[in-house]
Amino acid sequence: MGDPLAFLTIPRRENGERQAAERVNDWGEYVVPLADEALRKQAARCMDCATPYCQIGAEWNGATSGCPLYNLIPEWNELVRRGHWREAYERLIKTNNFPEFTSRACPAPCEGSCTAALPAAPVAIKSIERAIIDRAFAEGWVTAIRPARRNGFKVAVVGSGPAGLACADELNQMGYCVTVFERADRPGGLLMYGIPNMKLEKSVVERRIQLLAEEGIAFVTGTEVGRDLAFREVRKRFDAVVLCIGSGKTRDLAIEGRDLQGVHQAMDYLTASTKALLSGQPPAIDARGKRVIVIGGGDTGADCVAVALRQKCQSVIQFSRRGRLPDQRPSDNPWPEAPKVFKLDYGYEEAVATFGCDPRTYNVLPVRFVGKNDRVTGLVTVDVAFDDRGRLRELPGTERTWPADLVLLAVGFSGVEDHLFAHTGVAKSPQGTIAASRKTYQTDIPGVFAAGDARRGASLIVWAMREGRDAAAAVDRYLQEKKD
Ligand SMILES: Cc1cc2nc3c(=O)[nH]c(=O)nc-3n(C[C@H](O)[C@H](O)[C@H](O)COP(=O)(O)OP(=O)(O)OC[C@H]3O[C@@H](n4cnc5c(N)ncnc54)[C@H](O)[C@@H]3O)c2cc1C
Ligand code: SF4
Repeated sequence: MGDPLAFLTIPRRENGERQAAERVNDWGEYVVPLADEALRKQAARCMDCATPYCQIGAEWNGATSGCPLYNLIPEWNELVRRGHWREAYERLIKTNNFPEFTSRACPAPCEGSCTAALPAAPVAIKSIERAIIDRAFAEGWVTAIRPARRNGFKVAVVGSGPAGLACADELNQMGYCVTVFERADRPGGLLMYGIPNMKLEKSVVERRIQLLAEEGIAFVTGTEVGRDLAFREVRKRFDAVVLCIGSGKTRDLAIEGRDLQGVHQAMDYLTASTKALLSGQPPAIDARGKRVIVIGGGDTGADCVAVALRQKCQSVIQFSRRGRLPDQRPSDNPWPEAPKVFKLDYGYEEAVATFGCDPRTYNVLPVRFVGKNDRVTGLVTVDVAFDDRGRLRELPGTERTWPADLVLLAVGFSGVEDHLFAHTGVAKSPQGTIAASRKTYQTDIPGVFAAGDARRGASLIVWAMREGRDAAAAVDRYLQEKKD
């Protein structure tokens, strides 16, 4: 630490953003990184406090506080402050397999629990993380490292999202022969076909997959384990199997008119959009010229807003049952808990720049779809409020009809798709995820492990990577014990 008062004398600055009105005309990343010199100043704001809450990775009150990967944040901040970028990179990759993903798309729970947030503003941790990894790639420090020896064991990783990739990376570097099976046409899971290009460019995902392949990991795409390749066959061919198959069972909205054309799951819409971008073909679901309604107030819905704007929709509205979050932390949400406060995410900023208003409408419940000639033409809603006991109450006389040509359902996920349980035979948890212990990552089938959203339920990239890393260590313990 240089100046112990730097967190007070240097104002926080984070990466910038391209102008909202300009960036909605293309699919490029919207973040503009700060120059390295500015970031060195930002790194100086880190106080190296005795208990670095930024790196504790705990769950409090239903949200994550601190970095789940236990990134060594104060250490790399200090190295960046001194201009020791290479050493900072080496500290960063001790805990984080793919900083280029987290530094672009992580919601940065580290910053919510940074001690400097108490008297001033948090250190710009995510921006500094991105500068370190972008520089490492630019300088050629990130190279394929093939393990010197193989230990003779073969491991199958099913699913190539951040959990599967982190697990495969760890096991490969330990000397295991790793094959990753992926049912989609490209590896990456939601990094590829969930998170839009504006947040995480697909070339960034492809670059990492290429490196992992050069390091010796075999990727088999277009193969659904349990359907295209029997699960028992995989178990026979490999010494251990890790299921990192995500939490892809989407919630639906069982209301009148759900079957009308033009009502789609948000995930189908986002996947179609990225496929179109990568293939140069028109998207299978297109918002061009349409009045779009997004149902669901979460981040998936926000991504749908941003994509619809780029496809030149006529209008876009997003409905949430919940109310608007407060501008400041309420008293029951103290530091170091993740702050539950109002934010104007990138897609909303773009909607303001395009249509002059935030697309979010709060305390609204969809009641039925209306249509003509089997196509959706509108959505009927009522206003709702939560009573003192947290129960949702409809407010009489508040029914409204909203015109719509395209409705996107972004109402969440409820665990692993049912047929995958039938195909693999692993036990289900009460939450609909794969039942596997947090300590051993073992399912009820010996030698079969589970990690990421498939085990913990829909979460974050950073948790998926943490689980992938931990599951790899658990597989290693299991196979080494078997050998002895
Ligand atoms: C639209 C959207 C946006 C998001 N944005 C963010 C964000 O900005 N920041 C963030 O931190 N988190 C975000 N998340 C959450 C984050 O993407 C997930 O928590 C994370 O990807 C989970 O990783 P995973 O590896 O467990 O599963 P996934 O990424 O879901 O990958 C699972 C993979 O398994 C494959 N698969 C499934 N079954 C089989 C089978 N039988 N055989 C072979 N392959 C199979 C699937 O095709 C998929 O590729 C977002 C989620 C969504 C839906
Ligand atoms: S991975 Fe996420 S939580 Fe961890 S340091 Fe990076 S931005 Fe913060």
